[in-house]
Amino acid sequence: MIEVSNRRREVVNSIAFSRRTFLANSSYLGAMYVAAKLLPMPALAAELAEDSRISQTPLVDKGFASVRKIGDGLYATISDPSKGFQTVCNGGFLVGKDAALLIEGFISVAGAAFQMDALRMVSQAPVKGALDTHYHYDHSTGNAFFGANGIPLWAHANTAKRIVESYGAMQGADKAAFLSPLEKAIKEAKTETARKHREEYLAHVTTVFNVSNSSVLALPNRPLDPSKLPMKVDLGGVTAVIEGYPGHSGTDVVVRVPEQNVVYAGDLLFSGLYPVTFDAQATVSGWRQTLKTFASWDKDTIFVPGHGPVCGQEGVALSRALFDDIEDQAQKMHKAGMPAAEAADLYVVPEKYKNVVIFAWDFSIGPTITKLYAEWGSK
Ligand SMILES: [Zn+2]
Repeated sequence: MIEVSNRRREVVNSIAFSRRTFLANSSYLGAMYVAAKLLPMPALAAELAEDSRISQTPLVDKGFASVRKIGDGLYATISDPSKGFQTVCNGGFLVGKDAALLIEGFISVAGAAFQMDALRMVSQAPVKGALDTHYHYDHSTGNAFFGANGIPLWAHANTAKRIVESYGAMQGADKAAFLSPLEKAIKEAKTETARKHREEYLAHVTTVFNVSNSSVLALPNRPLDPSKLPMKVDLGGVTAVIEGYPGHSGTDVVVRVPEQNVVYAGDLLFSGLYPVTFDAQATVSGWRQTLKTFASWDKDTIFVPGHGPVCGQEGVALSRALFDDIEDQAQKMHKAGMPAAEAADLYVVPEKYKNVVIFAWDFSIGPTITKLYAEWGSK
């Protein structure tokens, strides 16, 4: 027992240190979210304000994230990056009689520790595993917490490889050399709009570089072979189903609890934000097909998106409408003979979507247009 509590203290000390170090290094994240129209994020979409399955009072609220009960043994961790960068993405946990499952490694060890502490407020059940919904840094650079605590980490089989290739490759790299092509693109921008988009892109890539270099990367040790999904996970009275879908990153998995109509969607669903499509393996047609599948699920489904407030089917409908609107505008430009690179900067946000957040133009709207052009066989 003494050994256990000493071990626990060591872990807590290392987490506290990580948290301080992380906060000391996190000023650059400020720039990132200023660029992303840093607005306080509500935890729930207005449509769910009266939903009796969702607790109106959070279990815990630290500003940067709050945790809320959204079902029987089901909890959502909802981030508000305007108040801190410990978590950044959303996540959650599932608690049955026999075991618990954590969702997301978050952007920092402090974020993963926060969610674990919240789990321990409601259950002492052994943690069967944690799961990264995909490889992106804001969902995975806090993974070291799981390694330090002996918690198995599940993810799509390609997640470990993509973390190493994307973020491991940045560690120790020459920052100036790494960023110089992006600076060149700013200098070469032909319009004010294009220059603004390239500057925003540079700010975000700089963040990714800094986070990668200030994190000890930790890799999932329970690869999920996509050909063997869906996979049922029995937690004792709560059955989760892990399913793989195309769209956002080539490594996306969701956790569904069909008995309660709850879905932890990862970044296959952005709630109140334009979908982020920059990834080399993102596919616009695949993603739209996935959203069509989400829309076919029960009308009372609760979705925990990767970013933004917990939502219902209206959140899925908005994402589909945003893709439709980008396609409509891109098609007109395509028909007018405009090249993709030019069209990518010229989408106009309609009045009805003016409150939809753009994470960064070159991570979301721009690549959606160039990927649509590619699907049409044009550049
Ligand atoms: Zn992502």
